[in-house]
Amino acid sequence: MSTPQSATILPLQYIKGVGPRRAETLAREGIVTPEDVIWRIPRGYVDRTAAQSIAALMQATRASNLWTGEAEAQHRAVSAEVSLIATIADVRQRTVGKGKTMLTVVVQDGSGVEAQLVFWNQIAYYTKRCRVGAAFVISGVPEYDARWNQLTLHHPELEELDEEDAERYRTGTTLPKYTITQGMRNSGITMRLFRTIVEHCLDIVLPTMHEVLPEAICRSASLMNRTQAIRELHQPTSLEHIQRARFRMKYEELFMFELQLAVRRRTQKAPVNGLKFAAKSRRARMLVESLPFELTVAQRRVIHEIVEDMTSGQPMNRLLQGDVGSGKTIVALLCMLNAIDNGYQAVLMAPTEILAEQHYHGIQRLIRDLDVCVVNLIGAQTKSARRDVLAQIASGEANIIVGTHAVFESEVAYNKLGLIVIDEQHRFGVAQRQKLQQQGRASHDDAPRTPHVLVMSATPIPRTLSMTLYGDLDVSVIDQLPSNRKPIRTTVVADSAIASVFDMIRREIASGRQAYMVYPLVEKSEKVQAKSAIEHAESLQQDVFPDLRIGIVHGQMSWDEKERVMQLFLQREYDILVATTVIEVGIDVPNATIMVIENAERFGLSQLHQLRGRVGRGGDQSYCYLVTKDHMRHAINRSSNAQERAASVVRLRTMEETTDGFAIAEVDLKLRGPGDVLGVRQSGLPEFRFVDLVQDTPVIVRARNDAFALLDHDPQLRKPEHAATREELIRVTEHKSFLGVA
Ligand code: ADP
Ligand code: MG
Repeated sequence: MSTPQSATILPLQYIKGVGPRRAETLAREGIVTPEDVIWRIPRGYVDRTAAQSIAALMQATRASNLWTGEAEAQHRAVSAEVSLIATIADVRQRTVGKGKTMLTVVVQDGSGVEAQLVFWNQIAYYTKRCRVGAAFVISGVPEYDARWNQLTLHHPELEELDEEDAERYRTGTTLPKYTITQGMRNSGITMRLFRTIVEHCLDIVLPTMHEVLPEAICRSASLMNRTQAIRELHQPTSLEHIQRARFRMKYEELFMFELQLAVRRRTQKAPVNGLKFAAKSRRARMLVESLPFELTVAQRRVIHEIVEDMTSGQPMNRLLQGDVGSGKTIVALLCMLNAIDNGYQAVLMAPTEILAEQHYHGIQRLIRDLDVCVVNLIGAQTKSARRDVLAQIASGEANIIVGTHAVFESEVAYNKLGLIVIDEQHRFGVAQRQKLQQQGRASHDDAPRTPHVLVMSATPIPRTLSMTLYGDLDVSVIDQLPSNRKPIRTTVVADSAIASVFDMIRREIASGRQAYMVYPLVEKSEKVQAKSAIEHAESLQQDVFPDLRIGIVHGQMSWDEKERVMQLFLQREYDILVATTVIEVGIDVPNATIMVIENAERFGLSQLHQLRGRVGRGGDQSYCYLVTKDHMRHAINRSSNAQERAASVVRLRTMEETTDGFAIAEVDLKLRGPGDVLGVRQSGLPEFRFVDLVQDTPVIVRARNDAFALLDHDPQLRKPEHAATREELIRVTEHKSFLGVA
């Protein structure tokens, strides 16, 4: 065809300095169009005010003794990227170990102190670049080594300053820093060339760009307009403008996201055929009466909220949040019994087989006298067992179905499915949830009816975050532990002081208590973990506690074997249970008061919290010992990665400081980011370019209120002043039909 191509699909190779080969390299990085280029947002900026002197950096880094002082602040201090401007004074290559070469570059900046840059890879490349006398902007995470009184940056990013840059720099111009991958660098795409590419692309793209936010909102929130914001991000005129530009883009991301949630919410709230349960349930009442404890006020409150939903005639979509041990299972079970008394099936879906089996066995124990049929549906079943279970489900004989993802495979035919309970929601996506609900709709022979859905999360997350993540769900929180619980005392212990832990174990066991010892997560493989636990158990038995009874449980054992050992532990046939992380879920022994976790620095925060939650379940004071290497306890710099080391220290410190799951989750979010903590990718949350879900709470709240208000005011965004917003929403949403497009 000979029609002129629109500017926006102009291939990058025609941009000056790029050419076919570099355009190809860029394409491999996912940068194909000029739009792709301008959406590569700078990850930072260099200017006179941002760069620090080596002397000042040394001072700041040295001051951060990891163990004392506020844990989070320390982490920020050691993990923050800095930029410095310095000249190369010396370059040295050294052979270390088996033919491995290390390149050390000494740099100076006139502040009287030197820093060293260390490179392990691409030695030839860096040797060539680092000519003595050349000036660079050096960006990286600094580490202070007390032994040598030395400030080191490992594999920092280097940008050479030529005359022109140096001049710009002197006059105070702020330069954007982009992420330049090794591949780009190899084909000659330097930071400077990339800046030039960006400049060209801005000229192409900005004239076609338009505002997508309603004007009234831009005005009331004093937002910079879109075109200007993009320009400021790439070609800043001041630091303050960068801030405003980022804020604007953040707001836009959140606003468009919340608008989608608002649409989904409206779609759900539109009257559909739900199930109207009666509030009273004979079986639920019988179960409550047979429990050896009283339900907490919080449990009763959430049950009330759930029952309100289930009796409303509208399908429930509710999130039940509660810390480890807050008693979510019993709440879910009572609701399932309500469904059964109303003549419906209930399904409970868990993320792992071990959790599913635990629920299955636990529920069976609880409902023994209630004439309820519980079945288990997991991947590891034999064909014939599975066939039987499927038949029981289809005939309606099964009342409660417990299982993993297997419960929503299409071969499962429910018979009047009334309630879906999903444990550990964050591992399931919105789409999966909807699919299960869809499947449930078809299980009613009279007319399609949408089952109620209750999702349970043990990851306590800040409320604003759950509003964002689960914006289409109502939220109930069990914010109270059963009253018999005492806060667990947690201590970090160095390897060399392990004898004191053994003493403590002895003392507690002498007074009739029991202990867990969790062994390291050294290897990914269950097999190796099991082996290490077995060896530890043997040496404990021989060398430390010859007189005590030690049981062992690990992932290589069958469910029956594990269950048998745990039963024996529960019956106090063992004093100590040595375990791998399999006990993270699925064991409940109130008489156990000590939890020892070895190599604790290797565990994630939420895992530590879950493990610790295995004790402190009875009325007795419980203790948790986090055993770690001596140098961790004293935070001496040894291991090579300052960031990881700092994160480990923060995790251990946090465990010592609090037992509050919400507080722990907040720290975890800061350390790992929501992506990893919440499984963001599966949860249907977009990958935000600008938003930091942890830090940006106020913007989240504002954007949410604005988005929901806009839709209340103009439900299909038909008003002319909302046309651009509508168009953008249509581009991004799945709920096109709601907006009146196919
Ligand atoms: P989670 O919320 O972590 O799933 P569980 O439902 O497994 O917690 O409950 C943890 C333990 O607390 C279980 O042994 C359960 O029987 C017990 N439990 C639940 N509710 C109460 C209560 N109100 N009082 C005392 N113990 C309770
Ligand atoms: Mg649970």
